[in-house]
Formats: sequence, structure tokens, C-alpha cells
Amino acid sequence: MQDLPRLHADPEQGELAAGAALPMPPGQAHYLGHVMRRQAGDPVRLFNARDGEWRARIETLRKDRGGFRIEAMLRPPAPEPGPTLLFAPLKRDATDLVVRMATELGASGLQPVITERTNTARINADRWRAIATEAAEQCERLSLPAIAAPLHLPDLLGGWDPDRPLLAAIERADAGTIEGWRAAAGETSPPALLIGPEGGFSAAELALLRSRPGVIAVTLGARILRAETAALAGLACLL
Ligand code: SAH
Repeated sequence: MQDLPRLHADPEQGELAAGAALPMPPGQAHYLGHVMRRQAGDPVRLFNARDGEWRARIETLRKDRGGFRIEAMLRPPAPEPGPTLLFAPLKRDATDLVVRMATELGASGLQPVITERTNTARINADRWRAIATEAAEQCERLSLPAIAAPLHLPDLLGGWDPDRPLLAAIERADAGTIEGWRAAAGETSPPALLIGPEGGFSAAELALLRSRPGVIAVTLGARILRAETAALAGLACLL
């Protein structure tokens, strides 16, 4: 089964259910036909968070369109709780890397945060979604991380539920580790992890973070990591 192409089925395209027909989006038709050299009759796996994972067959495949026929369930839907990654968008390649690896590492949500030193206030949500979808297909998740609209740091903190742990990664601070927080906190709702921009948080932002209830400053060690490395290291600690 592992060698079958595994594709995310947009729930809006229809239900994954035994015997159902599902249209094939042009991107998947191109991928299956041109990249994977598959043809009508070949088996695939289709999944989404709502319906689980299913074995299906390519029913028709022409140039940039086609259809699937759903056969049998391989895996029922199940919740996939995971941390939310809050991060200041970086340059394009670094952001792509963070989106892909955060998806692999189980993040359930991606929240872009605009800080004083953030490089770009704009994000390309379609690009993020495409990268996250590809990563979910590869790593065998059922769900895609939710991609939120960018928020300015003060607005994010202002609206934060103080009962939801927000771990703020702060370099050169006298802060505890993520493991230490976890041991002390016991069972909590999945935490959020906040990573600052390449230039770090400003003094005013650090003061704001420290003043908010529910914000827990954490260290990722003595070395100063690039923002993308910090995001991956922090998520790996939360695995
Ligand atoms: N330019 C800054 C470093 C910014 S690192 C400087 O030289 O001081 C980018 C982000 O990664 C930081 O805002 C922080 O969230 C995170 N980070 C990097 N290294 C870290 C560490 N050792 N501990 C905790 N957070 C770290």
C-alpha cells in the first residue's frame, strides 16, 4: 500500500465513500499522468481529515483532468492534535521550509505573526497550502495544518486565551526548556510555540511578552539559532 500515490482530496470536491466518484483536480491529473506515469485503472490512496484514508482507482485520466472511483477505507478519520506554530514570516525559501517541516512535525496550525522586525507582512496563503498539502501527502497525516491570517503581535497577545499555553522562544534569556515546562505542566491543551523574526523580538515586544499571563518564555539552548532552525527545534521538542 505504501507505494501507492497518496493524495489529499479536498473535502469540497465530494465525499470519500465506497463506490463514490470524485473529480481529479488538474494538478493531480498532471502529477499522476506526467510525473508518476499512471493511467486509468491504477490504484491510489486518497485522504482528508473529514473522511479518513481510502483506496481508490483512477477511473479516467486525460491530459489535465480525470476522475477517481473510491473503493475501500484504509484508515478512519481521527483527531490529530498538535501544537500551533506562531512565527514571523521569513524570506521565501526559509518560509517554505518552515511550512513543510512544521507539517511533517505535526503542527495543527500555522499562524503568521507580524513583529517590528518581520521581513514581510504579506503571506502567500495558496503557496503555503500547496506546500503543506504536499508535506501531508508524504508524511501520512490525514489533516492539513490550518493556515491563519497574519496578526500583529500585540493583537495576537491581546486575544490570547490565558489558559492556552503560549511558549515564546527567546534567545539569551534566563528561561526554562520546553521539556522542563512539559514536565511541570503535565497534561495541557496542545501548546502554541512562538518564534521571532531573523532580527529577534524588539525590547518593547520582549517586555510585552513577559507581561502577558499564559506566555511562558523558553530557551532552545545557548546557541543563537536562525529563525527557521528555532521553529524546527522547538517543534521537535514538542513531538
Ligand atoms: N538576531 C537575533 C537572533 C534572532 S533568532 C540576535 O542575534 O540576537 C530568531 C528567533 O529564533 C528568535 O526571535 C527566537 O524566537 C528564536 N531563537 C533563536 N535561538 C534561540 C534560542 N537559543 N533560544 C530560544 N529561542 C531562540
